[in-house]
Amino acid sequence: MSQRDYYEVLGVSREAGKDEIKKSYRKLALKFHPDRNPDDKGAEDKFKEAAEAYDVLSDDNKKAQYDRFGHDGLKNSGFSGRGASMEDIFSNFGDIFGGSIFEEFFGGGGGRGGSRQQKGASLRCQLSITFLESATGCTKTIDLNRNEHCDTCHGTGAKPGTHPVTCPYCQGRGEVTQSQGFFSVRTACPKCQGAGKTIESPCGSCRGTGSMPKRVKVEVNIPAGIDDGTRLRVQGEGEAAPGGGGIRGDLMCYIQVQAHSLFQRDGDNVYCQLPVTFTEAALGAELTIPTLKGKNVMTIPPGTQSSQIFRLRGQGFPNVHGQGVGDQMVEIIIEVPKKLTSKQEELLREYAKTEHKSVGPKRQSWFDKLKEFFTEE
Ligand SMILES: [Zn+2]
Ligand SMILES: [Zn+2]
Repeated sequence: MSQRDYYEVLGVSREAGKDEIKKSYRKLALKFHPDRNPDDKGAEDKFKEAAEAYDVLSDDNKKAQYDRFGHDGLKNSGFSGRGASMEDIFSNFGDIFGGSIFEEFFGGGGGRGGSRQQKGASLRCQLSITFLESATGCTKTIDLNRNEHCDTCHGTGAKPGTHPVTCPYCQGRGEVTQSQGFFSVRTACPKCQGAGKTIESPCGSCRGTGSMPKRVKVEVNIPAGIDDGTRLRVQGEGEAAPGGGGIRGDLMCYIQVQAHSLFQRDGDNVYCQLPVTFTEAALGAELTIPTLKGKNVMTIPPGTQSSQIFRLRGQGFPNVHGQGVGDQMVEIIIEVPKKLTSKQEELLREYAKTEHKSVGPKRQSWFDKLKEFFTEE
């Protein structure tokens, strides 16, 4: 798909300054605004094209990329100009035009006032869970203060027994057309502020706002395998949308997993250390170990070495996306006794006398290297 040069789109020279770029964009945006050109796909395309060009040329970094490399220069910058939605474009108007210009011209919300489905605000919360809960999954109940629809009027804002009525001033359209000289402009209806409906007798409980803060309990299901720092979205547990219907916002839970005294997490694997005595390592042993699911028995073979790691398959974290289960890694730490009874010492000295006859392979090769080292000198 070929793209027009951004400077050409905005009708400015390459030397144009910020003010000129802004002015030119404003002119085009007003000219091709969809509310002024209903059902004209060509105008909508031109409107989007201008928004895209302005997005690039008004941003020093993007402009520099574009000046050097053209459209290709923007592909790696995370900017996806094509396909920017109308909502995105409208949401930028506040910054570009310093607030009220578009509302003045087209009515609240960039000209879409009244017809768009309202969504309630999203809420956030922080949830701290234990290490083991992150492995098994759990359900937490949290207390929240959030705006709910008013019980008395069910969110409409109108006194019980009455209803919001279609605004007589704009006949429910939310906007009015005013003639000024020889052209006409549409503005948000001054009586209903673009809502298309007015409340004649406001609800006494919420003073006509339709909402009320309430203390609520929300159950959050935390899936097994969730990691520290994960953001969990609980759909529909945010605030109620203003004005009765609409969609509820979401609740964003930031999961914090507490550290554990025995375990550490590494991806879906869990790691722990297992201190063993010298004789257990030498003779082999059956040892009780902790796992994420509780106690387990693990056998170490005779001749187990220090720092040796044993892998217990399937004893780690379940993958939070349902892709298998991690392993448990057990690192052996051989402990040398710091104090010996006289009996133990006697036995060990006895044992030591036999040692030189059975030197292990590692020590043997170490001796060889040592010999080499001394002969080189
Ligand atoms: Zn009410
Ligand atoms: Zn009205």
